[in-house]
Amino acid sequence: MEYKCSVCQEKVEGDLLLYINHTESHIIEHIKSKHPDWAEENGLCSKCEEYYRKQLKGEGL
Ligand SMILES: [Zn+2]
Repeated sequence: MEYKCSVCQEKVEGDLLLYINHTESHIIEHIKSKHPDWAEENGLCSKCEEYYRKQLKGEGL
């Protein structure tokens, strides 16, 4: 089954779609600041997860 990643709008396979752990709320907040319509229930692809995780590191959080 294919899903569309709500963050990057790319089609991804179902098992590539990630749901961010609630303890990673700093990543959730960061994505929401860039994508106000996104909710963590929408999930995101592994590329986006990696991308935003790196961004947060770069910002020294
Ligand atoms: Zn994505």
